[in-house]
Amino acid sequence: MRTALRKIGRLFVGDGTVLERAAMVIEDGTIAWTGIDSRLAGEAGLLEVDLEGALVTPGFVDAHSHPLYAGERFGEIALRSSGSSYSEIAGAGGGIGATVRATRAASREELARALAERLERWLSSGTTTLEAKTGYHLERAGELADVESLLEAGRLERAPALEITFLAAHAAGPEWDGDLDGYAKEVAGWSKAAKSAGARHVDVFCDAGYFSPAQARVVLEAGKEAGLLPRMHADELARTGAAELAAEVGCLSADHLLALNDDGIAALRRGGVVATLAPVTALSMGRTPPARALRDAGVPLALGSDHNPGTCGTTSMSLVVALAVSLFGLSVTEALVAATAGGALALGLEDRGQLRAGMRADVAAWPVEHEGAFAWSYGLVPSVVYKKGRAL
Ligand code: FE
Repeated sequence: MRTALRKIGRLFVGDGTVLERAAMVIEDGTIAWTGIDSRLAGEAGLLEVDLEGALVTPGFVDAHSHPLYAGERFGEIALRSSGSSYSEIAGAGGGIGATVRATRAASREELARALAERLERWLSSGTTTLEAKTGYHLERAGELADVESLLEAGRLERAPALEITFLAAHAAGPEWDGDLDGYAKEVAGWSKAAKSAGARHVDVFCDAGYFSPAQARVVLEAGKEAGLLPRMHADELARTGAAELAAEVGCLSADHLLALNDDGIAALRRGGVVATLAPVTALSMGRTPPARALRDAGVPLALGSDHNPGTCGTTSMSLVVALAVSLFGLSVTEALVAATAGGALALGLEDRGQLRAGMRADVAAWPVEHEGAFAWSYGLVPSVVYKKGRAL
């Protein structure tokens, strides 16, 4: 079965180039051809879809999210907005501890239902691949069940493809009474089981007040040993040397980087680590990462929603792209490349993120004439999304 998407006004390839008046042929979920529409010869049995001049981009690759949790923390978010500090809120039973309690108390079915609803929102806003972390059970059985739940959810038709990240080292489990060292060693021992359950990546929250670089190394090395691809929450709250660790361990990606300095940028560059930035979180923290300096140093950029119950409810990568432009000073082209090809690079995926022959037909069509619209609309919505060539 071959489908031709015709009358594409602008085809944003994902490598920074644009084809005008383009067409794309899709066969068996893969892009078979792209080129100038007038050069596409008709053929028997070819299903033709008229996109009426639409802008077409690769489906977004959201490279950082925490989508599997129960409960909401709107009350504490309101408190924070009126001046309560994070530690006051955590002390009063809020923060990540509150989400861990709610998530542990929820049934697997409840968690799966809430997850499926969120994933539907991601897909319908143009995201076809989503990095999805565990990290709200913080005990062995729950974290492994989270991996299995994500694996099942990734098979849903109306969900992005999921890249599952084992983030049992999100914080120490409440039973550990702040013993980060002991908990990191314990988590290291869960790596093989996480891999067998279906995780592909391992992550650790390496920051002031969380895991130190030495503790993070234990988790990441064990994950690597088990065949997981390492990535990190790095240098977000304070500069702890997480970027250097990411380079040494060979992380695919170091994420957030709000406190990164020139030494850290040089380390990421040397290590070939992708910098995954999360503009909504940067906005809520009142701090921006050195996005321009990273770009100028030649560090590849990716973007993530960082959807999580504490600081960010968005599932819209269109909004993330708009903020990457207005808040980080990226060009529209740079932000869109980061949200597509950059995300694929950050996840070690070579089959998507660009619209070229041989790649997965993960495609979003937008009811606008030019990609500049992303920086204007703060939440552009696609007219149609194709996941592996199927219109959803
Ligand atoms: Fe995160």
